[in-house]
Amino acid sequence: MLRLYDTRQRGVAEIVPARPGQLRMYACGPTVYRFAHVGNMRTFLLCDLIRRNAERHGWSVIVCQNITDVGHLADDNEPDPDGEDKVLSQARAEGKSALDVARFYEDAFWRDCAALNIGRPDYAPRASESIDLMIDMIAKLIATGHAYPVTGGSVYFDARSAPGYGAISGNRLDDLRPGYRFADGVDTGKRFHADWALWKAAPADRELTWQAPWGTGFPGWHTECSAMSLKFLGTQIDIHTGGIDLRFPHHEDERAQSNSIAGHEVVRHWVHGEHVLFDGRKMAKSTGNVVLLSDVAARGLDPLAVRLAFLEHRYRQQMNLTWDTLAASDGTVRRWRELVADWANEPSKPICAEYWSRLTTALDDDLDTPAALRTLRELAKDRAIPAGSKFETFAATDRILALDLVSLVGKPRSAPLPEEADAMLGERAAARERNDFAASDRLRDALADLGVAVRDTPEGQAWTVRPAPRNAC
Ligand code: AMP
Ligand code: ZN
Repeated sequence: MLRLYDTRQRGVAEIVPARPGQLRMYACGPTVYRFAHVGNMRTFLLCDLIRRNAERHGWSVIVCQNITDVGHLADDNEPDPDGEDKVLSQARAEGKSALDVARFYEDAFWRDCAALNIGRPDYAPRASESIDLMIDMIAKLIATGHAYPVTGGSVYFDARSAPGYGAISGNRLDDLRPGYRFADGVDTGKRFHADWALWKAAPADRELTWQAPWGTGFPGWHTECSAMSLKFLGTQIDIHTGGIDLRFPHHEDERAQSNSIAGHEVVRHWVHGEHVLFDGRKMAKSTGNVVLLSDVAARGLDPLAVRLAFLEHRYRQQMNLTWDTLAASDGTVRRWRELVADWANEPSKPICAEYWSRLTTALDDDLDTPAALRTLRELAKDRAIPAGSKFETFAATDRILALDLVSLVGKPRSAPLPEEADAMLGERAAARERNDFAASDRLRDALADLGVAVRDTPEGQAWTVRPAPRNAC
């Protein structure tokens, strides 16, 4: 049985899909105004890990993940519709249209997901293409007394109309302090300080505005996730994921909106991923410690080293990333691939039941990936287990961990050149140039002893390196 920590229930819950055999999951997606950093990618990995584990249980999984390309303001608690929309301000900085910027960073996001083996969602609706859905939802909320339009064309959700508001974050309406702008009376139409904008009135000359029955404007950020999740997944959603910072106000507001439409609790389990720190501080553009996947590749590291570095920690632990930890993960990923390829050459044997049971128990236990990795390390070293069984067990686990551990199976491999061989090859080339064939032959034999086979071609020396036998990681 798969168990996950449910933020609303404040405990680990057994995941039982509302529809037997089918898990429906909604993941808050990226705001596409810049390259996603690897911290963002850890949050999207959470959804992928849940999906892969659910599939191991034989469930079919339907995932919807939105693309925010309009409406996410730099400060979303701000009632002021002139607040900076993240996509619009980036478009201005790049001298492009907002949608050009959004499509560019969205494409980059999908490439990063592919490099990290994060599967594509079944539905990936864009906010800018879902405005009708949102307008319909807002109209229903007004009709049922959960929302109210104000003079000027904005529409607010009435927070006090949502029983149980605050259950995810622990924030109570009475405890929420009025924002300074509200206190100053800038937004005169709002009835209660904790109400939030479902629709924000804006001048028609602002890029990305739409006509709504209440006036020209654009949707508030929280509006999109309710409208899209209800449309693509219905009113029974098994799991909703996101980063821990989305608990409030984003998920709290989304829950209030969706429950008010459905008349019941829509999301069964809220699952949040903790943040990545880099060199001790939360990775964020504003902190200036952002690492992109392209930075990782530029250092010659495999992108999946990032995936492994994340798996070394539980998703709901904060984790500190450094270049040293990434280099260590890169070494492990490459070594495991070589080992798995070696084991694949040995006689085939069934999966090792004892290790497989330990691996799946760990993964079912609130995605205890560190325990799963410890088990793999132990298995790699266990001399009592035949190589064929090690291969099968690693290959099966890799369908969940997705580190491409079978990528070298059946491929010709060349081991790295031993350190001393580099200089010897240089000496041998020099010896041949001065026609010192005795020295050249002596060096060829010495290189052969190091596992480097040299041959002479019209273009000069060529060599292959024999991989050294490996027994353990
Ligand atoms: P955004 O594209 O800004 O909407 O953020 C996308 C996701 O990344 C959200 O779910 C955030 O909670 C999450 N996130 C932002 N910073 C970090 C971080 N340092 N570590 C992990 N997740 C993060
Ligand atoms: Zn969302």
